Amino acid sequence: MSEQIPVKVIPAEPTAGKTSAKPIPQKVTIKPADDAGVEVYPARSQIYVRAVKGTMETFRRFFGFIFLAIFTVIPWIQYNGQQAILFDIPEQRFNLFAITLWPQDLTVLAYIFIVGAFALFFVTTFAGRVWCGFMCPQTTWTYMFIWLEEKIEGSANKRMKLDQRSLDFDKFWRKALKHSSWIAVALLTALTFVGYFTPIGALFIDFFTFQTGFWVAFWVLFFTFCTYGNAGWMREIMCIHMCPYARFQSAMFDKDTFTVAYDATRGEGRGPRSRKATPEQLQAKSLGDCIDCNLCVQVCPTGIDIRNGLQYECINCGACVDACNGVMDKMGYAKGLISFTSEHELNGGTTKIVRPKLVGYALVLCVMTGLLALDFMTRKPLEVDIIRDRSSLYRETNEGLIENVYTLKVLNKSQTEQAYSIEVRGLKDAVFIGEQLVTVAGGEVFSLPISVATDAYNLEEAVTEISFFVSTTQNDGTLVSVEEPSKFLYR
Ligand code: SF4
Ligand code: SF4
Repeated sequence: MSEQIPVKVIPAEPTAGKTSAKPIPQKVTIKPADDAGVEVYPARSQIYVRAVKGTMETFRRFFGFIFLAIFTVIPWIQYNGQQAILFDIPEQRFNLFAITLWPQDLTVLAYIFIVGAFALFFVTTFAGRVWCGFMCPQTTWTYMFIWLEEKIEGSANKRMKLDQRSLDFDKFWRKALKHSSWIAVALLTALTFVGYFTPIGALFIDFFTFQTGFWVAFWVLFFTFCTYGNAGWMREIMCIHMCPYARFQSAMFDKDTFTVAYDATRGEGRGPRSRKATPEQLQAKSLGDCIDCNLCVQVCPTGIDIRNGLQYECINCGACVDACNGVMDKMGYAKGLISFTSEHELNGGTTKIVRPKLVGYALVLCVMTGLLALDFMTRKPLEVDIIRDRSSLYRETNEGLIENVYTLKVLNKSQTEQAYSIEVRGLKDAVFIGEQLVTVAGGEVFSLPISVATDAYNLEEAVTEISFFVSTTQNDGTLVSVEEPSKFLYR
């Protein structure tokens, strides 16, 4: 059983004095309360995320940029005259540069998902929800939309005032420009995403010349709507209420997991003070290092106060770390009142990096990555299936031979045309009736009706185990062969 980190609840109200910085008021609609006066379903507050600069912000922009660049560039890469990475759903194949994966290669896809899942478990156990805060598409696109919002409507305070103002020309053009830019980004995102499933060059041309088919147009518009809605309107709702990962993350946390946390021992009691206040004066007023400026709340994309302890809404984005470090700098205090730290460290201990849970995830991750690599390396670009004719067990030819009929299916899993030679093994003096050399185009299945016959004197049993041996020499000189077992029936 995994342990959960106990949450220490600290009153949100200032413990001393008033706030020193003007907080950004948040628009809240109060919903009905229960008999005890407690809100049953607290309404969503409009969050005006305040911009912040700092190390975490630089990291997030860096990772966001890398992620965006990879996402945007990949579908445009060509390999051997075709899209290097393409999930071709109608053709049921997945092009991955020189490799084409087919539904028969389900194990490879399963291993890829398992490796991805365990990598996520490992990272979460080690560093909490850093995936959410730094790499998740929801976060990346939300921050991109907030950036556009800020460029067009101004700072968080200006945005809030603009929303409270009645409609005038200035508000109209700003809102119109903001939503147009969001829709443009959402449309480009959707086209790029759909470009992973259909050739992207043709998709862009067809879409902007109104020649796309119904379903392609439908999916482009659907993903445009989803991106615009999620990053523009839903934002933290996705993380708090819809993302399943937020729900099961605590199962992976332990007391050594690095998460964003507030050092209450150092910070409490909170309250404003003069920068020149001496330690004695602070002690007399029972003031800790938190000046209660509320900046950590104003920069939080999920609108929480990290000083209230670990909360499932926290996506570990580190924006509050940057905000608080800036404040500590100005006050001449040591940074790190809010930091990426573990519960053990917060309680004065040290973080244990090597621990059973983390080692377990690392081991499974290594084993699964090894199996994935092995599966890739041993994967043959050829698949053969042999189907016996079920209408008759056997028949006698005019020459008195015993004949069995089969259908041989040869799937060329490579991307280029291949010539395959076919032979039957395990049957004495076998006579092969049908083509023994077939050419199959890349990614095609070739069905070949064949008959195999032999003299009855060669058959000691009613059932003889035989096999079909299909082989080819690839362009790079590698010999690829598959031996598919079957049966030869008599009597
Ligand atoms: S930013 Fe730091 S100093 Fe300001 S309220 Fe938050 S924890 Fe306190
Ligand atoms: S509490 Fe801090 S780390 Fe958590 S979501 Fe808010 S700003 Fe990000």
